[in-house]
Order: sequence, then structure tokens, then C-alpha cells
Amino acid sequence: MNLSHTSETPRVKNHSHPVAFVTGGSGGIGTAICNALHKTGHRVIAGYYNHGDPSKAKAWQRSQHDAGIDIDIAYIDVKDFDSCQKCILNIQETVGPVEVLINNAGITQDVTLKNMSQTQWHQVIDTNLTSVFNISKAVLTGMLDKQWGRIINISSINAHSGQFGQVNYAASKAGMHGFTKSLALEVAKKGITVNTVSPGYIETDMITHMPLRIKEALVHNIPVGRFGHPEEIGRIVAFLADHESGFITGADFSVNGGHHMY
Ligand code: NDP
Repeated sequence: MNLSHTSETPRVKNHSHPVAFVTGGSGGIGTAICNALHKTGHRVIAGYYNHGDPSKAKAWQRSQHDAGIDIDIAYIDVKDFDSCQKCILNIQETVGPVEVLINNAGITQDVTLKNMSQTQWHQVIDTNLTSVFNISKAVLTGMLDKQWGRIINISSINAHSGQFGQVNYAASKAGMHGFTKSLALEVAKKGITVNTVSPGYIETDMITHMPLRIKEALVHNIPVGRFGHPEEIGRIVAFLADHESGFITGADFSVNGGHHMY
């Protein structure tokens, strides 16, 4: 089912499976998160963007289906407040309120500050950080009504360590931590938890396509001696999304093979 085309969408609400929405759901880490949440009994909806072209997301959805994993897809531009409101409302009317939100969509536009344009700054801040405001705000009323919810924000090792050429990216990812802790305080008594997961270098397409000598140099700095697997991020997200994880809130979880400890 493609939730971005409401006219085609049958109205099937299924209350036995908590509704989980994953932004950037068809990306490298997003796919692993969707699969982990599907495995733990969630009704998973993957947000896609691709500048409004659904073809890539539909192909991804078919390949997931062929692997026995049925995931809905929904168009969203996370940097656009109205798009987020529309997407979440559509999900709510179609399958029910979002109970588990994973803010995973993210981009990089790496360049030193000296050469960084305002556009490069705003694109990254809006996609990685303003998005967390946009979507969390859209799902919060539903979670407050239910007195239950899980919000998990995917940050980065570089929020803690900083990274050459990433003042925009590192600032956006560090901003997620302040957002997470403040919202966690606001909703702690309402059955809603808010946490951050900070991956280190994870073996997604971006890493796979790097020249071997760069990969070797990167791995050299990771104490466990390898890149992380996307499934290792999916695993901790599913753990935090669980009903039994209600005492964990306002926390940040580093998953980086010991690459950066603080
Ligand atoms: P991918 O590039 O594979 O996925 C990024 C996703 O973000 C894509 O699915 C894309 O959707 C989505 N996206 C981009 N712009 C928008 C937008 N405006 N609206 C909605 N969705 C959008 O990256 P990864 O899987 O590697 O990264 C996932 C998250 O993990 C990111 O936040 C990243 O910063 C973080 N991270 C990744 C690390 C790594 O080593 N891979 C390390 C640390 C953190 P679409 O393709 O449909 O346009």
C-alpha cells in the first residue's frame, strides 16, 4: 500500500500492531530499522522523499515484499512543516495514530565553513534538525491522547566528536540531543519516551562505495576493527521502541564500535 496516494488506500486500521513511522525508511539504516520494527510486530510505514518521485520507494517496497516484509510507504518532505502535517494526518486517518516515530532522514553537504554557502547550511539544518521539530510536533497530540509513545532520533558520532567539513551536519546532529532531552522532560509523565541513537561509521552504500584505502584508514580508528552493520542500529531502535523500555528516556546511545567514547 502506498499511503501517499489516499485515493488508492483502503482504510484498514489494525490495533494489534503499534504504528511505527520511519523517515528515510528506504535508506541504508532506515531499511534495517524498518525490518527490525516489522520483526517486533509493528505496522511499519517508511517515509520517502526523492523529490516527490515514488518510483525508487515503490521498487524498494516490492523488494521488501519479495523478502516477506510488508511495509507501507508515504511521501514526506521532512524539512517542510506542511508536508509533515499532511503525511502524519494521512497515516492517522488510514492506519491509526503514529505511536513510534523514528526521525532517521538525514543528509550531508560537506564543505569547510570558509566555503559553505547559506544554502548548504540551511539545507542540512532543515533536513536533519528542523525536521525533528516538524514531525515530532505532528505526532505529539496523538501520543498525548494515547498517553503512550516512542520518539527515537538518529543522530551521529560526529555530533560528539565534530568532523572536518561538517559544521552544518555536526551542529544539526548535536541539536538533536538538546531537543531530545528537553522534550523527554516535557512528556516524561505522559508515557512517552524520547531518545537519541548516535551511530558511528555504518556499512551503508556510502561506505561500500569508498575507495579501499580510505575504508582501511577509517577502520584503523575503530577499536572493534570493522564498520557497524545497519542491523545493529535497527536492533537498538527496536529495543527502545519496546513497551518494556519505558524507563529509558532523554538518553543518547552511541553505537560506534568504541570509535568515540565520552
Ligand atoms: P541514506 O542516504 O541511505 O538515507 C537517508 C534518507 O533520508 C533517504 O532515505 C532519503 O529519502 C531521506 N531524506 C533525505 N532528504 C529528505 C527529505 N527532505 N525528506 C524526507 N526524507 C529525506 O543514509 P543512511 O541510511 O546512511 O543514514 C540514515 C541516518 O543515519 C541519517 O540521519 C544519517 O545522518 C545517520 N547516520 C548515518 C551514518 C552512516 O555511517 N551511514 C553514521 C551516523 C549517522 P529518499 O531516498 O526517499 O530521498
